[in-house]
Amino acid sequence: MEYSSAEIAAIVKKVMSDMGSGAAANGGADVPIGVSNRHVHLSREHLDVLFGKGYELTKAKDLSQPGQYAANEVVTIVGPSLRPIEKVRVLGPIRSASQVEISMTDSYVLKVKPPVRESGKIEGSAPITMIGPKGVVTLTEGCIIANRHIHMSLEDGAKYGVADGDYVTVDVEGKGKKTRWYGVQVRVNKAFALEMHVDTDDANAAGIGNGSLVKIVKE
Ligand SMILES: [Zn+2]
Repeated sequence: MEYSSAEIAAIVKKVMSDMGSGAAANGGADVPIGVSNRHVHLSREHLDVLFGKGYELTKAKDLSQPGQYAANEVVTIVGPSLRPIEKVRVLGPIRSASQVEISMTDSYVLKVKPPVRESGKIEGSAPITMIGPKGVVTLTEGCIIANRHIHMSLEDGAKYGVADGDYVTVDVEGKGKKTRWYGVQVRVNKAFALEMHVDTDDANAAGIGNGSLVKIVKE
């Protein structure tokens, strides 16, 4: 049996489209995971204190959310335990307020009690100290454990039928650690790329890593 080139093109197109619908192949799991290790965001004022007046962050690599990047610069963080955690990555660009995002496990090492929060909501959060090559900054508030959240574009929001600020349930197949996460916040913005952000505790507990696919469940 021989195929015409048009028939071959049609078959190839069908195969490619079947492969493209990876959601079906993964039981509907189509949201990639991005694991956030502990990191800090710095204000202009605190960048000056920690790294020197007028210092500018240098980019190590772009992150998946447009405009966000991991800087080469790192700080040491310390709390009441006086057990420092070194080489905590600074993420750029600078923000209006400094913020330190750690895991629950880190909080036990540092002996700080950060609330689980949406990034940017630092009112009344935990105090912590940052040490840089040129100085020290003690934040009276600013240390949080970031909530589980999913970034998505307006198109993806429409696709999943969710709006900015909604909460969804997420199923995780994991590696022998099948998990369901409740109360995952959806962040819809035209500048966002589809990705669910969890911290290292969550990733480890579910046996997943960067690029693992999870499924949004409608309740
Ligand atoms: Zn995020």
